Amino acid sequence: MSLMSFPRQLWLAFAGGEPKSKAAPEAGAMDKAVKPQAGEGRDAALEIQARKWLDGIGMNEEAKLISVEWNARMRSTAGYAKWPQWLVELNPRLKEFDGEIERTLKHELAHLIAYARAGRRRIQPHGAEWRQACADLGILNERVSHTMPLPRHKQRRKFSYVCPACGTGAERVRKFKRHTACLACCKKHNKGRYDVRFQFVMKPS
Ligand SMILES: [Zn+2]
Ligand SMILES: [Zn+2]
Repeated sequence: MSLMSFPRQLWLAFAGGEPKSKAAPEAGAMDKAVKPQAGEGRDAALEIQARKWLDGIGMNEEAKLISVEWNARMRSTAGYAKWPQWLVELNPRLKEFDGEIERTLKHELAHLIAYARAGRRRIQPHGAEWRQACADLGILNERVSHTMPLPRHKQRRKFSYVCPACGTGAERVRKFKRHTACLACCKKHNKGRYDVRFQFVMKPS
């Protein structure tokens, strides 16, 4: 009866079977970013911030209970709210994204606030009570997902080209069609017509 219905991802993060002793780097995409800069453990500044937010909505007693920790074992999970411990765990990789620490902290705090307000009543993890708590914390239309935002290098993925003749660079989100040449050089040396000598070549990334 004390079993709360946590979102699936919360349980996955909890029961994921990742050994405590080693924070194994994730293969592939996140290779360089996976190392937490500030390591693990409690974050006093974020706890003060969370306390202020709780005080601000009149939850002064609860504000005394809150702890905020970085958990470098988290992989794709952005944040985790542990109820009834008043503990929020955050993925250190959130530091790579502007504004995401605050937003994720509020998202997870909203879970704790919703559970606290609900008392013994069962509530949906992302139901009306959670949405109300989000609104109280100033995050409207908060997304339900607990997964990490897209890594920067994916958001900014670009193809870099260079003209072999003049060295002019070009950045494109999509690949050039096969025969795209440097306009400046074609104008200058070939009366504005396409010339294979000035075909852009892709720079190795
Ligand atoms: Zn959530
Ligand atoms: Zn050129």
